[in-house]
Amino acid sequence: MEERRRRLLEDLNDAIKGELRVDRAAVVAYSTDASLYEIEPLAVAFPRETRDVEILAAYSADNNIPLIARGAGSGLAGGAIGSGIVIDFSRHMNQVVSIGEDRVRVQPGVVREKLNEQLRERGRYFAPDPSNTRITTVGGMLGVDGAGSHAVRVGSARDHVETIECVLSGGQRLELGRELLAGRDSSTDATSLNRDSAVMLSESSLSDSLRLSAMTATTRRALLLQKLAQILRENAQLIHELQPPLLRNSCGYRLRGILQDSQIDVRRMLVGSEGTLGLFTEATLFTTPLPRNRSAAILMFSSLEGAIQAMQLILPLEPSGCDLLDRRLLSLGRGADQRFRDIILPDAEAGLIIEFSGFSEREVLQRLDDMQRLLNDRRIEFQLTRQASNYDDVEFLWALPGKVVSLLASLKGNSRPLPFVEDVAVPPERLAEFLPVAQRVFQRHEVTATLYAHAASGQLHFRPIMPIPCRGDATAMEAIARDLYRKVRDFGGTISGEHGDGLSRTAFIRTQYGALYRVFQQIKEVFDPQKLMNPEKIISNDPSLTVRYLRHTRPMVDEPSAVQSKPLLPVMQLAWTIEEATDAAVRCNGCGTCRTQVSPQRMCPFVEANGDEEVSPRAKANVVRNSLSTNSLQELLAEAGTSRFLASCFNCKQCQLDCPSEVNIPHLLIEARAQHFQAHGLSKTEKLLSRVHTYARMASRVSFITNRLLNNSLFRRIFQRILGISAQRRLPRFTQTLFLESQRVLRNQNSGAPGSNKPTVVYFVDYFANHHDPELGEAFVRVLEHNGYRVFIPQSQTVCGMAMFSNGDLTGARTLAEQNIRALIEPAREGYSIVCTEPTAALCLTQEYPMLVQNDDAGIVAQQTTDAGSFLADLHRRGLLKRDFSPLPMRIAWHTPCHVKALQKGTPMLELLALIPELTVLMIEKGCSGMAGTFGIAAANFSKSVEIGAGLINEMQTIDAVAGVTDCSSCRMQMEQAATIPTIHPIKLLALSYGLMPRLSERLKSRPNGLVMS
Ligand SMILES: Cc1cc2nc3c(=O)[nH]c(=O)nc-3n(C[C@H](O)[C@H](O)[C@H](O)COP(=O)(O)OP(=O)(O)OC[C@H]3O[C@@H](n4cnc5c(N)ncnc54)[C@H](O)[C@@H]3O)c2cc1C
Ligand code: SF4
Ligand code: SF4
Repeated sequence: MEERRRRLLEDLNDAIKGELRVDRAAVVAYSTDASLYEIEPLAVAFPRETRDVEILAAYSADNNIPLIARGAGSGLAGGAIGSGIVIDFSRHMNQVVSIGEDRVRVQPGVVREKLNEQLRERGRYFAPDPSNTRITTVGGMLGVDGAGSHAVRVGSARDHVETIECVLSGGQRLELGRELLAGRDSSTDATSLNRDSAVMLSESSLSDSLRLSAMTATTRRALLLQKLAQILRENAQLIHELQPPLLRNSCGYRLRGILQDSQIDVRRMLVGSEGTLGLFTEATLFTTPLPRNRSAAILMFSSLEGAIQAMQLILPLEPSGCDLLDRRLLSLGRGADQRFRDIILPDAEAGLIIEFSGFSEREVLQRLDDMQRLLNDRRIEFQLTRQASNYDDVEFLWALPGKVVSLLASLKGNSRPLPFVEDVAVPPERLAEFLPVAQRVFQRHEVTATLYAHAASGQLHFRPIMPIPCRGDATAMEAIARDLYRKVRDFGGTISGEHGDGLSRTAFIRTQYGALYRVFQQIKEVFDPQKLMNPEKIISNDPSLTVRYLRHTRPMVDEPSAVQSKPLLPVMQLAWTIEEATDAAVRCNGCGTCRTQVSPQRMCPFVEANGDEEVSPRAKANVVRNSLSTNSLQELLAEAGTSRFLASCFNCKQCQLDCPSEVNIPHLLIEARAQHFQAHGLSKTEKLLSRVHTYARMASRVSFITNRLLNNSLFRRIFQRILGISAQRRLPRFTQTLFLESQRVLRNQNSGAPGSNKPTVVYFVDYFANHHDPELGEAFVRVLEHNGYRVFIPQSQTVCGMAMFSNGDLTGARTLAEQNIRALIEPAREGYSIVCTEPTAALCLTQEYPMLVQNDDAGIVAQQTTDAGSFLADLHRRGLLKRDFSPLPMRIAWHTPCHVKALQKGTPMLELLALIPELTVLMIEKGCSGMAGTFGIAAANFSKSVEIGAGLINEMQTIDAVAGVTDCSSCRMQMEQAATIPTIHPIKLLALSYGLMPRLSERLKSRPNGLVMS
């Protein structure tokens, strides 16, 4: 394998303009998609242009290496994985090439939502609407013939394509649409007909022995059309009889209606071919005017049967959408958003979202009324909880299914709703009859299944709730599929409505289509005689394909033979077992939500910066899961390419917040880093930065020199060369007297120590306030005292250790954690709150210490710890916070740090700032600051850090405010990086407004200067 990979690199790396990756982190990241499967590819290619794809396809044919096209890898059937070269079109080939009046030319990797953002400005859109529009690529949609809730009105991807530029196995590039057959004349309308395809072949050019890559595109096109026409003509009867005329069907190849007298509609056949016939490198799509007059309503039912009955009555009214959601999905919707809570009844067993379109608002509202009247007349019990007729409100109602489908993965317990029979479709008029039959199949196998249906088009998304299967242990899965698919066939339905066949359904196509399968094989033979285009998808002889490539989901602890030939299982560095760590990683279902760059959520800053799959949280979960479950962690860590992977996480925890499955990616990555640290230690810069508190005391002693040197560019350049600290980063000045060595702490006025009968809090100071901003410590103590508290500041506390923890130096972090726990445990046991002005410290004490130190004390300290904002906001909510604030007539710019979000207590500091009269808070909503503790200080990370923080940095340069405000010292550094105004901690504004520290008004006037902060 390694030899083949080396050769591939040698042969292809310089030949293509894009890149080729063969390192472990890359191949493992691309070995899964949103399906249950896993196949490690030989390599991953990132083409930059069609020529690259031609080169790859010619090389593949000459060397017998499979090619697997991939978009966002959000397919649920395992279509985008395979053992050859995976071609990721989403990285570089993701542009909108040109936009015309009613057409658009795109590259395959463009994300549907990004395309529609551009089209919307012109009042148009690409209409097929999969629910994961922010993730799915157009190439992937064409690959599976994607569709969505409005399929009944707008159709599927297939209905919106004019031509496809396709690279065939062998490397020929063809533009394929509706093709005129040679020797035929067409009198029909042929606006988008490819006339130059009508070339007759001589006998010699038909020679089968000709090497594929040696053929010209013209020969290939002619040969292709001639053979296709012959196959379709000879099997016309079979196709008519065996391919059902369903609204939704992406099972096998679309052959029905492809041959029309003198034309052959190749584009419609290519759509849904799952990369098995050719690689799409561009496409011309039809665009559609944005819908104007629509009405929508949500109906709640006290039984699933009631909803099904209602649906049956509604379908003849020709709604443009009618989705059915079961009880589980509705309750997820209630939990997801307060606005959904208002419209989903708590005891509803099922719900319908109905949409009507028409020529006027009056008409569409009338159609809703007609529907209600009909249901009432038939005595159907329902409750209409919301109706809408303007664009935004209708879109809001349709956001519900998208939201809950991805949230399905968050259901608690060992079993999960699994996608393997998630795509059946039956004729809509038989839906009500089919649903009880399907339910009986699940009952027979003793499973329950969640149900989401695009009822108007007969599409049913079942997800049986079962333990995640693994290789060699999945008989139930196969049996359920077999039984359900038999019923689907009896009802004239299809097993793949819009997700394609992939690995999960290919083994069943033969049974579904009978004799037509042979025709599919012939079609494959014409396009791809060497079977190199996405092998094993649609065409396969493997009867066990559905379960053969299931993901590795359990560590190899009980397989002695495997363990003997492998290195010893790694000793876990965090406080979890290898099984628990693997389980945490297995929670990632690959949905791809964390790939999104158009999300309103914050998600992963690394993805937001460049969208690369290998830095996505999904890749991180998969790489760690694969390494643990195949016991190959050491191999991974030994590879050079792994360092980029390890460096692509700085423990901001945003992925965990926004991931529907709540996968604990940060701890998985820290475990991997800790393993790496065990083997290789930290770099010089990492070591320096994570232990800066040990040098900072000395720097403070001579702060008059240190601070001058910090602002000297020559010194900083030398400093960068020797120690790797960025010469461009504005750094904080050192204080002369550390807060923990100040009179405030030493004179023991802070003796609200255990035993005191006054309300007391314990102040955990952490690094920044101690070494750079003692004024913050003082301000906080005064604010607390002003509110009647004594403040106990244990002198033996040290820094929280988050920098060491995030870098994987768990030995060092554990030593600090133990010291702090010793300093804090006594008051914690007494029930005192431990309050941190640094949100990162609060996070470290509450979430990281219990993963570092395995004793009850760590848990007790964690339980008592909170951040300053939450503590004071809680006082305020209980009416215990003094309100004697004087006005601060000024505008300030607020940034919410990632670690405040990670504490999951809202933005309490904003609540407190709102109490200050005349203070105007301008919100900066630009995502992560990119500083992440010490990450942005290292020269190696500086450019990535400012790339991630660019939005925030730019805003701080232009915003009309006297100061930036944030409670995170690290974010503060980034906010001041290029700004001319200072950034201060909100506690200081509270102290100023209380009149406790008038000198703080001077802080608002101090400016960042040169290479040092304000
Ligand atoms: C939460 C969730 C919700 C979903 N909702 C829907 C939905 O509402 N409707 C729906 O239809 N699907 C849905 N899906 C399934 C999936 O997202 C879609 O099938 C989607 O269109 C796949 O797009 P992708 O870019 O991720 O493609 P991939 O998964 O990367 O690829 C899908 C298939 O297309 C092929 N392909 C990709 N690019 C090319 C190319 N350039 N040339 C040739 N073949 C190519 C691949 O080989 C593969 O067979 C959902 C999935 C998830 C996880
Ligand atoms: S990490 Fe979460 S959001 Fe990302 S793919 Fe996995 S489950 Fe989906
Ligand atoms: S913790 Fe932050 S940086 Fe790490 S993967 Fe999650 S979102 Fe990305």
